[in-house]
Amino acid sequence: MSDSPIIDLNSDEHFMRQALREAEKAYRKDEVPVGAVIVKDGRIIGRAFNQVEELRDATAHAEMLSLTQAQDAMDDWRLTDCDLYVTKEPCPMCAGAIVHCRIRRVIFGCRDAKGGAAGGFTNLLQVPTLNHHSDITPGLLEDESKAMLKSFFLAAREASAARKKLVAPEGGEEQG
Ligand code: ZN
Repeated sequence: MSDSPIIDLNSDEHFMRQALREAEKAYRKDEVPVGAVIVKDGRIIGRAFNQVEELRDATAHAEMLSLTQAQDAMDDWRLTDCDLYVTKEPCPMCAGAIVHCRIRRVIFGCRDAKGGAAGGFTNLLQVPTLNHHSDITPGLLEDESKAMLKSFFLAAREASAARKKLVAPEGGEEQG
């Protein structure tokens, strides 16, 4: 057995499945289902899911929370030899944090053409004028993460429509 990390499709898939498990936890808590894990030398040193609602914190994205965990685990803000697996393409905030932490490679599932900052609407992971760039592996197990997000937003829309039906129209007659 070699000590060197194995970077192949199988291990990428394995770790993305771990990220998907985190996303499922978010789903069960009525959070937008996004999960992330951070891996160093084949070992997970950070894992988190989106907790914006629970923590009432718009910065509590899965990537941000897992970066904090990984920095604690490393006792260092530099995550130089670490890879981040996330079920959805990182937003600009998370992409900025990823570059600050010097993550080596970002592997993501669902692409986000509107808000994604890893090649979607922009690419903040590889800004030519910055001295750190992260490698990008897009679209891994994309169907799984996309299906979960679709199902979540569909259920949210249905719940919102049901709530509207329950509310009496304004100015409506009151019986009594
Ligand atoms: Zn984000």
